[in-house]
Amino acid sequence: MDDPIGSHLIVKLETDDGLVGWGETPPTPTWGGAHMKYYGETARTANDMIEDYFASIVEGQSPLDIGPIHDEMDSVAKGHPYAKAAIDIALHDLAGKRVDEPVHDLLGGSYRDRIPVAHSLGIMDNDRAVAEAEQAVEEGVETIKVKAGLDAERDVDLIRRLRETLGPDIAIRVDANEGYELPSEAARITRQMEEYDIAYMEQPVDDTRQMAKVAENVEKPIMADEGAWTPQDILDLDRHDAAEIFSLYVTKPGGLHRAKEVGVVAEAVGMRCDIGGSIEMGVGNAANLHLGAAVPIAGMASVSPVNVRAEDYDDQVAGIYYEDDIVAESFTLEGPDVLVPEGPGLGVEVDEEKLEQYSIDQH
Ligand SMILES: [Mg+2]
Repeated sequence: MDDPIGSHLIVKLETDDGLVGWGETPPTPTWGGAHMKYYGETARTANDMIEDYFASIVEGQSPLDIGPIHDEMDSVAKGHPYAKAAIDIALHDLAGKRVDEPVHDLLGGSYRDRIPVAHSLGIMDNDRAVAEAEQAVEEGVETIKVKAGLDAERDVDLIRRLRETLGPDIAIRVDANEGYELPSEAARITRQMEEYDIAYMEQPVDDTRQMAKVAENVEKPIMADEGAWTPQDILDLDRHDAAEIFSLYVTKPGGLHRAKEVGVVAEAVGMRCDIGGSIEMGVGNAANLHLGAAVPIAGMASVSPVNVRAEDYDDQVAGIYYEDDIVAESFTLEGPDVLVPEGPGLGVEVDEEKLEQYSIDQH
């Protein structure tokens, strides 16, 4: 199986009575917490773990028994949350279809029916980044997320130019992806960016105690992403005063069921979150949106893709990261928001011809 970086694994589960559930996971080998606490996965490792360990657990079970299935998966294999998340999402899709309710209702009900989209600017030269941000704002988004952490001068200059170009009403957030070497350097850069009214600084350094040193020397909130995978991580961040906010994923804790648990713990210690991810296609993004609907503290703008099919793509940029998608219907940006799907299960159908067209291997 070819396994180029960036491959997403798609899981299809079927029940005896003919229901079909879909899951997606976007593993990355270089993605994990500080000090190798978590480690990378790939589409190939996720596929192997599912075939060798998890598929036999799911077989013959009711899709409604999601918690016990998680416990069984955890008992046969530690870690591998991205592989477990693909199974978990497909189970939720099946469970929702079984009871004819959307996934967010399985997760406790809906706190919101739309998620504000933060448009993410990848690492690119500053001229291009400013132009892309301008277009995204013209198309409706009210939050721009800036990937930084490479070069202090470049990063601060980009924030200054974005603020001058976009005006005072657009939220600008910064994600350093652990890119600054020292807490003192990260704090100095964050304070310079605060002059241009950034909303917060995300994961400026890797280690929790180092994050705390940044947090105590800046005004704006520090967000944890690479350091926030599990309920225990949330308690650790809180214990060290390392972050006030964090990025909740479906995948990092191992699926929707576990992500909901992270949300409960974070709410108990007074944290807030967005819904993050790794630019999922429509199946994984639908799961993200249902989680965002069902977690009360997840009201922040989120890097939720706007998944469009090639037939509907028209040079727009806001929330667009791919020029085609495997879902049967495109998602749309409504004002600054993407809507949470409403049908049973994930509320999206997979276009199996597109899935085959883009597959690099089939099982
Ligand atoms: Mg991040």
